[in-house]
Amino acid sequence: MRRILAAHEEIRYNGFMKKTNLKQYLHCLILLFIGIVLSFSMGLSRWIGFFFVFIPIGLSISIGLFIDQYHKNLKLGRKISLTLVALDLLVFLGIMQHENLQIEETVFYFAYFINTGIFTRVLIHYAIAKIFGPLIWGRGYCGWGCYTAALLEWLPINENKIIPKKITYIRIPVLIISLLIPFIFIQSGYDYYNSHIYSPVPGFPLQNYKIGQFIWFLVGNIMYYIIGIILAIVFKKRRAFCKIWCPVSLIMKLQTRISLIKMKPSGNKCIECGKCNNECPMDIDVKEYIRNRHKIISSECILCGNCVRNCPVKAIV
Ligand code: SF4
Ligand code: SF4
Ligand code: SF4
Repeated sequence: MRRILAAHEEIRYNGFMKKTNLKQYLHCLILLFIGIVLSFSMGLSRWIGFFFVFIPIGLSISIGLFIDQYHKNLKLGRKISLTLVALDLLVFLGIMQHENLQIEETVFYFAYFINTGIFTRVLIHYAIAKIFGPLIWGRGYCGWGCYTAALLEWLPINENKIIPKKITYIRIPVLIISLLIPFIFIQSGYDYYNSHIYSPVPGFPLQNYKIGQFIWFLVGNIMYYIIGIILAIVFKKRRAFCKIWCPVSLIMKLQTRISLIKMKPSGNKCIECGKCNNECPMDIDVKEYIRNRHKIISSECILCGNCVRNCPVKAIV
C-alpha cells in the first residue's frame, strides 16, 4: 500500500509540474496584488511606511506560493514566506520603527484610541491581520505571516505527538494575563503615551524615540521565542506554542470558524490513508472532515496546505 501511495504521489507531482500554466503564476501573484492595493490605499493617505509593510508581505507570500509549486520539499515555500515576512515585521517595524505588534501593545494603543479617537497603525495591523482579515482568510496569518511561527517552523524536531485538548486551554489564562498586564500598568499611572505612542509626524525610515515600546517589543518577543522553543521540544511539535500558549490564536478563532477561505473535499476521492492527519501541524482530524465531505471548519486550521499537498488522490482543495 505504501509503495502504491508513493508511486501515486510521484505521478501526481510530475503531472502537477507539467500542467503548470499561466493560471498558476497568476494564483501566486494574488497576494502581491493585495499588498500593492493596501500599500497605495493606506500608504498615500496615512503613512508612507505602509509601502514597506504590505508590498513586502504580499511579495513574500507570493514567493512562498511559487516555491511551493516547484519544489519537492512541500513545506519550504511557506517556511520561506514566514521568514521573509518576519524579517520585514521585526526589522522594519520592530527595530527601525520601534513598533510592537504584540497583544500587550495593542491594549496601550486601544486606550489611546478610546482617549483620542485616533486609530493608529498597530491597531490597523490588528484589524487587518487578526480581527477582520480572518473573516476572509481565517488563520492564514498564522500559516504564512507570523514572525513567532517563522522561527518555530525551522526547528529540527521529529514530530510524532498530538497535543491533548485539555492542555490547549492554557491559552485562556494567558490571554487574560496578556490583557491585564498593560491594563494594570495604565491604571497605575504608567506614562504609556510618552513611552509608546508615536508622534503624529513619525520619523521615517528611522523612529528612535519611543524606547518604552521598543523594550516591550524585545522582552515580549524574546519570551515568546523561548517559551515556543521549550514547548516545541517538550511536546515534540513545532506549533506547540500556537496550540498551547499563544493568546492571539483565541482572538482569531471565531472569525476563522466562518471565514470564506476553507479547505474542502474535492468529490468523493478519499481513500482514508490518513496522510493528511499525519501532516497537519495543528492536530486537526482532516480525514474525518474529508471522508464526511465537509469543509474543514476547525478554527485551528492555519491554511498551511500540508493536507492538500500530501493527499495522494487530490481529495482536498
Ligand atoms: S497561533 Fe500565535 S504564534 Fe502561532 S502562528 Fe498564530 S499568531 Fe503566530
Ligand atoms: S483526504 Fe487524502 S490524505 Fe486524507 S485520508 Fe483521504 S486520501 Fe488520505
Ligand atoms: S487542515 Fe490542512 S491546511 Fe489546515 S492546518 Fe491542517 S494541514 Fe494545514
